[in-house]
Amino acid sequence: MENIKANLYPCAHCGETGTCNNGPNNKSCSSCIKRNELKGNDHSGLLCGSCGGIGMAEPMTERINKRTKPLLAMGIVFFVLFIVFAFAFTKNENFSEVLVFASTLIGSITGYYFSSNSMK
Ligand SMILES: [Zn+2]
Ligand SMILES: [Zn+2]
Repeated sequence: MENIKANLYPCAHCGETGTCNNGPNNKSCSSCIKRNELKGNDHSGLLCGSCGGIGMAEPMTERINKRTKPLLAMGIVFFVLFIVFAFAFTKNENFSEVLVFASTLIGSITGYYFSSNSMK
C-alpha cells in the first residue's frame, strides 16, 4: 500500500550527494555544521543536515504522517474500547453488535499496522 521509498525526493540542499558544500569555498554551511554538532565554520564534507547524508529527503508531510497516524490509530482503538465498555456497563441490548463492530475495526487497524511494519 505505502511505498516509503517512492515518497523520497532528491535532496535539494546537497544535490543528492549527501554531503553539504553550500558554505563558502565548498565548505559545509553553518546549519549543517550545527546539525553535526560541530563548532566553528571551517568544516567541509559534512553530512547533509537536510537528508542525513543519504541524498534523498523525506517530505515534511510524510514525517508528520508517520508520527500522527499511529497516534490516530491508538486514539481510535482506545475510543472504540471506551464505547465497548460503556455499552457493557449500561448492559445495552446492542452490545453484541457493538462488540462485533469494535473487534472488526480494531482488528483491521492493528492488522494494517502489523502488515505495514513488516514491509519496512
Ligand atoms: Zn541532502
Ligand atoms: Zn548544509
